[in-house]
Amino acid sequence: MPLPASIPRHDTKRPLLLTTGAERPKSDFMDDIRIPTKTADTLIDPFGRHVTYLRVSVTDRCDFRCVYCMSEDMTFLPKKDILTLEELDRVCTAFVSRGVRKLRLTGGEPLVRRNIMALVESLSRHLKSGELDELTLTTNGSQLARFAGDLHAHGVRRINVSLDTREAAKFKAITRWGDLAKVMDGIKAAQDAGLAVKINMVALKGVNEDEIVPMLEWCHGEGMDLTLIETMPMGDIEGDRTDQYLPLSVVRASLLDRFALEDIPYKTGGPARYVRVKETGGRLGFITPMTHNFCESCNRVRLTCTGTLYMCLGQDDAADLRAPLRASESDEAMLAAIDEAISRKPKGHDFVIDRRRNRPSVGRHMSVTGG
Ligand code: SAM
Ligand code: SF4
Repeated sequence: MPLPASIPRHDTKRPLLLTTGAERPKSDFMDDIRIPTKTADTLIDPFGRHVTYLRVSVTDRCDFRCVYCMSEDMTFLPKKDILTLEELDRVCTAFVSRGVRKLRLTGGEPLVRRNIMALVESLSRHLKSGELDELTLTTNGSQLARFAGDLHAHGVRRINVSLDTREAAKFKAITRWGDLAKVMDGIKAAQDAGLAVKINMVALKGVNEDEIVPMLEWCHGEGMDLTLIETMPMGDIEGDRTDQYLPLSVVRASLLDRFALEDIPYKTGGPARYVRVKETGGRLGFITPMTHNFCESCNRVRLTCTGTLYMCLGQDDAADLRAPLRASESDEAMLAAIDEAISRKPKGHDFVIDRRRNRPSVGRHMSVTGG
């Protein structure tokens, strides 16, 4: 049966190639990627929310082992299960054709994925075409010194860097394998390259709560926003999450002793709610899935590096996009699977951190769906 003209197809004789500039002349690069024509209306879930934001975990691997995110001894996925860069591009492009306006690459650590800049470069064509408003990423910063310039050259303008402490020994204790100096160099390189950096800090009781004020003052002094995140019960870790959990309602109340916080309507498309700190003039965000979730305005879905689509960070229901993707050169079946998945997007999550029930609310680690 012939495919309808509107279904994006890839040239079968000429496979999609995402190669480095060293392997192919740069001018050829974009010719290998076909931009699909718009195939249908935008993605709207059963609660009337427009899904315009896709977060893509490009790898489950990481060069750190943050205590709240992974156990030290992680088993990673076999390569055959992981979408190739070409396949990741195809899925992202399908979402863009369905009205997604913002793509965030995450992980694991996105910058440890081999040849990741080729994916960033190929996706940047959607920025140029105006179909995408933003291409961004969340990173631990360890590889930023290497990649900051390329990211900016490919249209990335803002990035999130995760940094829970600026004390070297504590940084090592939290990340197990990380080197603070490298991350600080990476942040500097990103700023020098013209990238706006937002720092993400997971608030950990008794670990870094005393650093929240210094972190805020440092970030704002350096012209960076800071977002605080509540630790979420995802995946088994070594240790008890109830020991780590610090409600941001408590943090906010104690900040009010020192700072005037003014609610502002600033939005980045993510779940953070922002205030302006009067004394520093900078922005402070709160991501509070535990004390106050903002599911009612959720506009995003998450793709894992194996092509599984999670419609909610805090629920286990998912849709497999890899099978339809690999079954056909046409995107028809994948697009149908995306539509079907969005029709199942739940109203919200049910995260609970409870001492009597010391099990994660969802079994997978944050590194699977990328936070
Ligand atoms: N490796 C990159 C990084 O650390 O920025 C990207 C992936 S990481 C999973 C994305 C974000 O999720 C980071 O800011 C990290 O601190 C946060 N995160 C990981 N596990 C978490 C958890 N259980 N609760 C809350 N945030 C978590
Ligand atoms: Fe790696 Fe990010 Fe998870 Fe830390 S939070 S272990 S850097 S994926």
